[in-house]
Amino acid sequence: MLRQLRSGMQALTAGLRAHCASASAAAATVGGSGLVRSQAYIGGRWVDASGSALFPVQDPASGRQLVEVADCGPREAKEAVRAADCSLPSWRAATSKERSNLLRKWYDLIIKNKDELARLITAENGKPLQEAFSEILYAASFVEWFSEEARRVYGDVVPASSPNRRILILKQPIGVVSIITPWNFPSAMLTRKAGAALAVGCTVVVKPAEDTPLSALALAELADQAGIPAGVFNVIPSSRSNTPAVGEVLCTDPLVAAISFTGSTATGKILLRHACDTVKKASMELGGLAPFIVFDSADLDLAVAGALASKFRNSGQTCVCANRFLVQEGIHDAFVEKMVKAMQRDLRVGSGFDDQTTQGPLINERAVQKVENQISDAVSRGACIVTGGKRHSFGATFFEPTLLSNVTTDMLCAQEETFGPLAPVLKFQTEEEAITIANAANVGLAGYFYSRDYAQIWRVAEQLEVGIVGVNEGLLSTPEAPFGGVKQSGLGREGSKYGVDEYLEIKYVCFGSL
Ligand code: NAD
Repeated sequence: MLRQLRSGMQALTAGLRAHCASASAAAATVGGSGLVRSQAYIGGRWVDASGSALFPVQDPASGRQLVEVADCGPREAKEAVRAADCSLPSWRAATSKERSNLLRKWYDLIIKNKDELARLITAENGKPLQEAFSEILYAASFVEWFSEEARRVYGDVVPASSPNRRILILKQPIGVVSIITPWNFPSAMLTRKAGAALAVGCTVVVKPAEDTPLSALALAELADQAGIPAGVFNVIPSSRSNTPAVGEVLCTDPLVAAISFTGSTATGKILLRHACDTVKKASMELGGLAPFIVFDSADLDLAVAGALASKFRNSGQTCVCANRFLVQEGIHDAFVEKMVKAMQRDLRVGSGFDDQTTQGPLINERAVQKVENQISDAVSRGACIVTGGKRHSFGATFFEPTLLSNVTTDMLCAQEETFGPLAPVLKFQTEEEAITIANAANVGLAGYFYSRDYAQIWRVAEQLEVGIVGVNEGLLSTPEAPFGGVKQSGLGREGSKYGVDEYLEIKYVCFGSL
């Protein structure tokens, strides 16, 4: 195993070095930091998968293998659940201050290691280093936030209707939680869930996305260093082929009380079906189809800046990315002209390790094909490519930032999540028409609109069928505010004072005969 680990480290270093000079500096730092882990973390120990099975983690920019990590299957999933269950009684019995202090130590270590953690994200996810760095601060902010929330999980004393009774309401940790995370925010999606669960006294088993397990394993190393007790936080990486069987254990094992998933709506439905037989509590952060509406009264420059930020962050691979630009006819041509100029001026495609880059690769070939397919469908139905439209010469997984005009609601790009750097623009006439188009979706995560008309702002904010609304603002995520969607975008909320509710049971205690 040691030999495999060493050769994995060498491959990771070599893979990173190939990017550019600054990448090799990054590789040296990451490789030497002790944060690159290739085994699973179960019950406080670093362990191999059975049969020493491994799977490759690839650099999405080149397709080259960075390192191989333990390929956990159902057996390891069961072991991890058992470990989490064994550590549950002592973790839930700890005082909230003790848990808070340990989370704070974990936060401090994440901040101390922020540069290395950011480089790991860029290596396995491809996003530009500056964005990766922001993700680490965002990820850490949830650990900090929930370290503070840990001490504010209050119950209630409720006036009773009979004089000889007293009513108490207790909030208690639900138990072992299975956490399944996506590749697009490999650190932040983990801490947003685990931070809340650990804060209230739950123990967790995390299955990271197969594309990006290194960030989760690095966070486990730091949790270990922080002194979070063995078995409280477990991480089991797993290949795409083992994932369904692992997911099934995590969602059906009777020792698991709740599941928390971020990913596609299709996968969320599979997991919900698994969870129903044992009636587990489920928290689901699923896909979106965010409308981005620009009304005639909008501040055009503000709208273009917000559109660029919302659409092209992480090369369009965020669940709250603007997916459909609805622009009112009076401002439409000016918006398209300014947006295209801004895209051509401000967006740079290239290696995530190059500090000029704003657009890294898409996560894999499948993701590129989805964007190509949406563009060819739209063009065949009458849309025009105003800028971009094809793969970028930098590499097979790189795509030109693209803007389509003349888009109509029957096109695929207006109906399904793109998850890539494609901005389709639809023209509308009235506010009512814009609301109808925006709400004609079976998902509703984020929605954005730009307007300087206050009455319109109230009307539209209230009518949009989404969980998160940006009014004259393109970047919304923050630990203080609840994150989550309506319709098939999910169940529950993460972050904010509401985030802990996903991991709590409410118990009513009646004191009688007083
Ligand atoms: P995905 O559903 O394919 O994968 C997400 C996770 O689920 C990964 O860990 C994957 O290994 C796992 N998975 C896949 N099939 C599984 C199965 N049968 N059993 C158990 N686990 C399984 O999604 P993705 O492509 O990784 O992520 C993109 C999607 O995630 C987009 O739709 C996006 O909108 C959504 N997303 C949502 C949020 C949010 O907060 N709402 C955040 C990020 C991403």
